[in-house]
Amino acid sequence: MKIFPADFLSSLPMTTFQEILLQNNFSQEDLVNLLLAEGEERLQLFQRAQQVKIQTIGNKVHFRGLVEFSNICSKDCLYCGIRKSNEKVIRYEASEEEILDACQFAWTNRFGSVVLQSGENSSPAFVKRVDRLLRKIKEISDNELGITLSCGEQSLETYRQWRESGAHRYLLRIESSNPDLYRKIHPDDDYHRFERRLQALSDLKTAGYQVGTGVMVGIPFQTPEDLARDLLFFEQMDVAMVGMGPFLEHEDTPVYEFRSLLKTKQERFDLTLKMIAALRLLMPDINIAAATALQAIDPAGREKALTIGANILMPNLTPCKYRKEYQLYENKPCLDEDAELCRNCLETRIELSGCEIGYSEWGDSKHFRKSDRT
Ligand code: SAM
Ligand code: SF4
Repeated sequence: MKIFPADFLSSLPMTTFQEILLQNNFSQEDLVNLLLAEGEERLQLFQRAQQVKIQTIGNKVHFRGLVEFSNICSKDCLYCGIRKSNEKVIRYEASEEEILDACQFAWTNRFGSVVLQSGENSSPAFVKRVDRLLRKIKEISDNELGITLSCGEQSLETYRQWRESGAHRYLLRIESSNPDLYRKIHPDDDYHRFERRLQALSDLKTAGYQVGTGVMVGIPFQTPEDLARDLLFFEQMDVAMVGMGPFLEHEDTPVYEFRSLLKTKQERFDLTLKMIAALRLLMPDINIAAATALQAIDPAGREKALTIGANILMPNLTPCKYRKEYQLYENKPCLDEDAELCRNCLETRIELSGCEIGYSEWGDSKHFRKSDRT
């Protein structure tokens, strides 16, 4: 991905599109324009997002070592390869020792934080287990590793308990902020309600987390207007982080039936990059993740996202033996690379994308720290 010269935009005569790029406030229509940009305008969008990122938060990338510690899920999201009804999946729960080893690896290699991710499970045993893990991770890392959780919708009480035990960031994607589209990609029951998802996001804020959300880009039936509203939703929710990846079909899921409606993978990839760039203009100081799903389409996908606006990368530290059972979508990358290999190839590629790694730093969102102070 090209690293643009600083005067790239100013050297061109001003057009309406460039005027939009230089705004501080964006309407839904402005955002749709950005998402539909092609050719020269597309490059201008990426250049402007890169410039805004560097001016606002600098060129540092922070690592969050990702540990997908269980694929046991009580939900049946219609797009997800590890949904409860997919009987082809062999269910696992990594042992405490395996999880702590992965976290130890993160700490020793100066990753500032880890993300513990799993299917959704609200059993008392699971809540207790996560609680114990949080305390142990803090213990083995002299209280230094930052911990993000991504374990789905839980009660406010559980969120509070986990917050007290050491988690300080939580990722819960809204998946789509359009309630009608949300309904299309989830079963129609109380357990999968849009309102429940919104309540969970609000509870996470109440419990004092840095809240991250996000959407899948290129879901069947999704329009550019939906995506523009997703961006405005992140702004209204005043979130500290966003993770957005291309939607990727999985043949053992109900959404697969609608695959003829999908954009090509390359188009979904490109649209995700435009979403990241547009979001960097809309919310200059938040954390934006370069999602693993980008790498499933383009081997350099995450680095391209870093160049044009993202600043967070989540190297996969899940024990290799479990990775093939955490296939949310087809062709999930890094299935047999061990964590060390992933890390080495990542470092070189990050440097090539013009970024610097913020070793041993939590890399909290500047946005959160600002709103936290006020
Ligand atoms: N169970 C938790 C939850 O749903 O929030 C965390 C784990 S879930 C596997 C993490 C994310 O994977 C979801 O928020 C969703 O956006 C993404 N995901 C699931 N299936 C996907 C697919 N087919 N393509 C792209 N992303 C997918
Ligand atoms: Fe479970 Fe999360 Fe997949 Fe939904 S997206 S089925 S909650 S793992």
